Amino acid sequence: MTIQLTILGSSSAVPTKTRNTSAQFLHFLNHRLLIDCGEAAINTMVRLGLPFVQLDYIFISHLHTDHILGLPGLLSSFALKNRTKPLTIFSPQGLKELMEPLIGPTEQLPYPLNWSIVETTESMIILDEKSFTVETIPLFHRVPTTGYLFREKQRPPNIKKDAIAKYGLSIDQIKAAKKGLEVQDAQGQLLDNQELTIGSPLPRSYAYCSDTMYDESVAERVKGVSLLYHEATYLDELRDLVQARGHATALEAARIAQKAGVGQLLLGHFSTRYKDVSRLEQEAKTIFSNAYAVSDGRVYDVFSSP
Ligand SMILES: [Zn+2]
Ligand SMILES: [Zn+2]
Repeated sequence: MTIQLTILGSSSAVPTKTRNTSAQFLHFLNHRLLIDCGEAAINTMVRLGLPFVQLDYIFISHLHTDHILGLPGLLSSFALKNRTKPLTIFSPQGLKELMEPLIGPTEQLPYPLNWSIVETTESMIILDEKSFTVETIPLFHRVPTTGYLFREKQRPPNIKKDAIAKYGLSIDQIKAAKKGLEVQDAQGQLLDNQELTIGSPLPRSYAYCSDTMYDESVAERVKGVSLLYHEATYLDELRDLVQARGHATALEAARIAQKAGVGQLLLGHFSTRYKDVSRLEQEAKTIFSNAYAVSDGRVYDVFSSP
């Protein structure tokens, strides 16, 4: 089952020739999710052949224009594409009021649209699906901002094929073994569960933290995640500017990754002053070696942390 992240935009406030403003397409198991929606998000999804009309949920971190300007076009296109599937958009307060003058009253859209307001000062689970949950990560920016943490649920163990044949297991016995319940063979002998099942892989997780200043509480929230995206707008030499603008440096992003013990770190939301972002990557690697500066259009697989 795939968990795959596609970067649609990784520039900060202004797009460049090679980078759009913030947006990400997350294929999470059997769901299609959009995280933030900078102005070129829909164009990029079309260009990359991503099924944007089928999006299940949209997650907005905050109401700065570089994270929401693509939304009116996207929501209107759903109507033009005859979407009828319900949609929920999670965001801090105020998004509906910004969008309705552009897309019309929510009730008149041809698909049910639910505006779900998220609290930005405390972490909570906002979505509990069969195979995964989504929780919020309070972030520290100039306006109310939240990150999102997508966690795969632990899957039940798989049954060993040769054990089915060896003990002639029935469907009910297979179900019981998967739940860890006692199973007996035809002679009434108790079977060792470890002989019948094989453990499923560790659950995977992805955390999105943009935009934010450095704050240690973020490391607590993202402890042990498989993949962390943390904004890295500037190099550490501009730390003063970072504080004033509510952003983080590449070094600070790496410090969060290191403290949290994440599997892999992706850096993004780059200031347009950096034509070559390899310097930001190098800076992060000085304290967290598994760090990479993202590129637009690039796809990243999410693996279990070792
Ligand atoms: Zn931004
Ligand atoms: Zn912002």
